[in-house]
Amino acid sequence: MQDAQTPSQTPSLDRPLPKDWILGIHAYVPGKSAGKDGRPLTKLSANENPLGTSALALAARAGAGDPSRYPDPDSKDLRAALGALHHIPMDRIVMGTGSDELLNLAAQAFAGVGDEVLYVRYGFSVYDIAARRCGATPVIAPDSDYGTDVDALLACVTERTRVVFLANPNNPTGSYIDRQEIARLHRGLRPDVLLVLDQAYAEYVEPNEDDGALALALAETARNVLVTRTFSKIYGLAGERIGWATGDAALVDMLNRIRGPFNVSLSGQAAAVAAVADQDFVRESRRHNNAERARFVAALDALGNHGVRPLPSKANFVLIEFSGALTAEAAYNGLMEHGYITRWLPGQGLPQCLRITIGTAQQMDEIAAALRTMCDAAK
Ligand SMILES: *Cc1c(COP(=O)(O)O)cnc(C)c1O
Repeated sequence: MQDAQTPSQTPSLDRPLPKDWILGIHAYVPGKSAGKDGRPLTKLSANENPLGTSALALAARAGAGDPSRYPDPDSKDLRAALGALHHIPMDRIVMGTGSDELLNLAAQAFAGVGDEVLYVRYGFSVYDIAARRCGATPVIAPDSDYGTDVDALLACVTERTRVVFLANPNNPTGSYIDRQEIARLHRGLRPDVLLVLDQAYAEYVEPNEDDGALALALAETARNVLVTRTFSKIYGLAGERIGWATGDAALVDMLNRIRGPFNVSLSGQAAAVAAVADQDFVRESRRHNNAERARFVAALDALGNHGVRPLPSKANFVLIEFSGALTAEAAYNGLMEHGYITRWLPGQGLPQCLRITIGTAQQMDEIAAALRTMCDAAK
């Protein structure tokens, strides 16, 4: 008989020991919404929609039904709505608790210890977490002036590469590669390498230059392409945590095996179905964003002689490089004094840059004016 005081298993540690690869992860750092003194600040640090949420989606969310009941585990109405909008059979769509869940599941299903997960320098910070938490090794390809370099990515592929993540437009850079480049990247990958095209910001790209359609077409025909999308950005439903992915039936099947069984809430499903039906809201959000982004970039371009450089963006934010007397850190702190929280990114290797979400016209005017004042004072 076993002595109750002394468990027999060896080795003996005084606490559970996490896996090495988990210890290598730095927790995701979200955009802040308050200053050091706790004062509320206008938040332009998390790429949320300044127009809020579709009124129809809000009404549907409010009437979503009995919260004591589980939601539809298969999000059928929502997948049917998305399938109809994007001309995708609904059995080729899998929902996630935000697209973050799907990015993590894609890595988990296809990579593990000894495998490599590849993405570009200044890629989305979730890719590092997704790679490490399944024990895979993150591999970072060099950028080209902060943008995606397809040749550099392809040069980093090894026999151990299992998954390539690419956000297009990318976060935090806003950079974008066109359909020829996406096709070239795909052609250059072995068929056993999964290409995850993260299209969190695809709806901000003008439909007449919609290379996102190529990504969806690849997801339809290629067996190694997964496209992920989200309701967190243009749809203004970040708080409901809803994302989706589409790809080959076998890919969708793998993600369905390991996703949370009730991974989209009752209110989230109801809100998202109504949000999909309200494409007027999506168009208005895109129109607002792209007009304000152009105005903001023009105001920043006028500060070029101060070393302020907005990087080209197709998303709902602009990454700004500071190489003059005004540093990114000083600009970040100064904007906080003016009541705005933006995203300074030293933790992502970008201490010289600030990422600012496109807000209302008035907010962008105030930020541009504050930056000009700070540039003049820093001389
Ligand atoms: C915001 C964002 C997402 C979306 O995350 P959710 O989990 O859907 O909120 C995915 N990828 C990138 C690159 C993003 O910036």
